[in-house]
Amino acid sequence: MINVLFAARPERWDTYEAPLRTAFAKAGLDVTLSTDLPPAEVDYIVYAPNGPVTDFSPYTRTKGVLSLWAGVEKIVGNATLTQPLTRMVDEGLAEGMVEWVTGHVLRYHLDMDQDICRQDSEWQVHIPPLARHRKVGILGLGELGTACARALTALNFDVAGWSRSPKSVDSIACHHGAEGLEAVLGQSEILVLLLPATPATENTLNAQTLAKLPKGARVVNPGRGELIDDDALLAALNTGHIAHATLDVFRIEPLPTDHPYWAQPNVTVTPHIASETRPGTAAKVIAENIRRGEAGEPFLYLVDRAAGY
Ligand code: NAP
Repeated sequence: MINVLFAARPERWDTYEAPLRTAFAKAGLDVTLSTDLPPAEVDYIVYAPNGPVTDFSPYTRTKGVLSLWAGVEKIVGNATLTQPLTRMVDEGLAEGMVEWVTGHVLRYHLDMDQDICRQDSEWQVHIPPLARHRKVGILGLGELGTACARALTALNFDVAGWSRSPKSVDSIACHHGAEGLEAVLGQSEILVLLLPATPATENTLNAQTLAKLPKGARVVNPGRGELIDDDALLAALNTGHIAHATLDVFRIEPLPTDHPYWAQPNVTVTPHIASETRPGTAAKVIAENIRRGEAGEPFLYLVDRAAGY
């Protein structure tokens, strides 16, 4: 019998319990799944950062902490966590992110607001360029950035991407390192941020890097709030150097009601809804990792604690 503690917000139990039980049964795992188990008897923790577990020291026999979230910045520095930590890579999460990013890139590419927000009765003709003539940059070529890059490439966008290590992705100009960032920024009419929040990625977009974007560039951030120096972005939005930004994630969430982003006319705020882990597909990933843990095989999607993601 394998004891699995479900440690996310209580309302998530209703959506996850059945998919997890189904996935465990399909994987042939004999599991006791509960939201309440004595810590010393827990083999695996299905974890969310906003759930009840913050101190991992009583979980002495726990073989793995399996995060339901892709972003692990809230747990990676937890000194009580000595157990292996995995992050969520879920096809449903990736699918949702592809749809959200593609939608917002198309909004900018087609200048949809010109007609949607029109208050006058003028017949103003504006023909957008083809996607093949629109340069999109994606910072972060991981699971989500690569999926978005592939979808945008399939629509013929001219996509460049940036990662920490060298990468090769079909039809995408891949860059890395400080020079690579400059190359991607210099040509990105639309810039998408899909980096994790780590000490190395904090303020990736700051006054200097924003200045490297072409005048009138648009920024889409479904990554993390910490990636952007907010004052620098607001300054660039006010001068028009950055024409518009769509921001899904913030340093403080919910975004405080008096935050300048709410009143900034060229900012769209969305409430951290770009994409969510989907219980049906995520439960299979959790079950596979427990199967691996029991079989002594390496976990999938193990977090590199030193790199922070
Ligand atoms: P991932 O697979 O770990 O990919 C991260 C990418 O960022 C990798 O390409 C990595 O480079 C790159 N990177 C990391 N540090 C870097 C650095 N210092 N310089 C340059 N590149 C760096 O992560 P993912 O699954 O794609 O998720 C990305 C982020 O999306 C998550 O961390 C989370 O913050 C965010 N997210 C947001 C939502 C939402 O609803 N808004 C939902 C899910 C996830 P390498 O390839 O070289 O490692």
